[in-house]
Amino acid sequence: ALGRTCFRLYSTFSRDYRAAIHEANPGINAFVSVSDKIPSKDGPLQGTAIAVKDNICTSSMKTTCSSAMLENFTSPFDATVVKLLQQAGADIIGKTNCDEFGMGSMNTHSVHGPVINPFRPKEKRSAGGSSGGSAAAVAAGMCDAALATDTGGSIRLPASYCGISGLKPSYGLISRWGVVSYADSLDCVGVMAKTVPEVKRVFDVLNVHDAQDPTSVPTQTRLDARRIVEEDLDSGSWSGKGSLDGLTIGVPQEYFPSELSSFITHSVRKLLVSLQHLGARVVPVSLPSTSYALSAYYVLASAEASSNLARYDGIQYGLRVPPPPGADTTKTSKVYANTRSKGFGEEVKKRVLLGTYALTADAFDNYFLQALQVRQLVREDFDRVFRYPNLLGRLHQDLDVVEPHAQTQVENENTTLHGVGQGRVDVLIHPSAIRTAPPLTFGLDKEVKGSSLDSYVQDVLTVPASLAGLPALSVPVISSPPENVKHQTREENEEKGGWPIGASIVGQWGCDELVLRVGRAVE
Ligand code: GLN
Repeated sequence: ALGRTCFRLYSTFSRDYRAAIHEANPGINAFVSVSDKIPSKDGPLQGTAIAVKDNICTSSMKTTCSSAMLENFTSPFDATVVKLLQQAGADIIGKTNCDEFGMGSMNTHSVHGPVINPFRPKEKRSAGGSSGGSAAAVAAGMCDAALATDTGGSIRLPASYCGISGLKPSYGLISRWGVVSYADSLDCVGVMAKTVPEVKRVFDVLNVHDAQDPTSVPTQTRLDARRIVEEDLDSGSWSGKGSLDGLTIGVPQEYFPSELSSFITHSVRKLLVSLQHLGARVVPVSLPSTSYALSAYYVLASAEASSNLARYDGIQYGLRVPPPPGADTTKTSKVYANTRSKGFGEEVKKRVLLGTYALTADAFDNYFLQALQVRQLVREDFDRVFRYPNLLGRLHQDLDVVEPHAQTQVENENTTLHGVGQGRVDVLIHPSAIRTAPPLTFGLDKEVKGSSLDSYVQDVLTVPASLAGLPALSVPVISSPPENVKHQTREENEEKGGWPIGASIVGQWGCDELVLRVGRAVE
């Protein structure tokens, strides 16, 4: 009874998010559905309003994936993550806009139209993608937290552009059952909120094994990862609290490419200096395969997407566009072709074609296998620098599911189960993105910068952690302009308005707790 009274009091005084959505959403376009069901269940997330990306299934609201293909689709069931939130008493307040099936970096590829970055809506900048709706909903104060998915940066990039915190957890920790697949070997569900403790509160509810998701990591492996970090913290290195004495932060040199805005370089450097003052040791490290990661990511993600999206054929789900009158209706392929031509947007079609090509017999060795090899090199780069063993690599090895061509060096000094390895750093810190939120017209303006390739380049700093399945948290950083900048570029002029900047904290697989603790110290 006391719980219920407290809840009623809480509801009375807590923000009326439905009114906030009513007021702010028309100018931001973050929500595509709003729920009118207010739960009254007790639990750790009672009274917490959580928005859910529209590629996560909900039985009470549509799940469109921002695609014409699923514009009228309502799932018969709730995703495991939605059920867990409901059981914890959360208020699932609505569904959020995103790039179609999660493909994009600007949330401009959406049947619902683009999301406007709420930082200064008048400037019409991107909220980032693909989870732009979730990020904008949090940033504009339309919910307490949001669920999103991150395949190659879709949580961290929008979090960075909108000035909030966003966690892509270790691959396999949060259930993907009921989450619409883009690229299964990379897809992760994660959490966005204004502060790191709020992210953690939601993450803790979701961080459990789910027997319905075959890639969900067993409880024992989660406990092993936790124990290794905790024993290490207890044995005299960083206590995880207060001062940062004993914490070693690696700064990957390859994450400061020439495209990086000088505002961002400067702001992240200042952050690192302040962490040093708090007692952290900051060391440069090298992750030499970084420059190949982006191309490998786009080959692998598109290949998996081309397979996953084959289910939208006009027969089983969503849109069905029959052949025109008089056509030979015995040919079902006509239904397939008509449905796909109408139902998929240009970006999705591009990825399906690219992915299908990469998997053809002629291209397989040169593209798909090469990309798998690069993926393994990226993993090995990370394993060399972290002091903790990679338990996911170990688990895959035990289950014998590592790709045959990629199994070059799974057993190295870092993969022992007991104790920490030879690597030097606890976590890595680097800029989350190479620039601040771009204008919505970015990449379309061929005169200025060439082509839509520019929007792919936005992912260059986020895809390595995705390829390796590592936990990565983007937190807002104070923006500080470089001193004595003489010849400012157009991008640098745009940064001058103090647009949000994000820094990413990346940890070894399973070190999500450590990443969140460092995130707390950084924010
Ligand atoms: N921008 C990347 C892509 O288009 C990442 C998207 C994501 O993480 N879902 O694939």
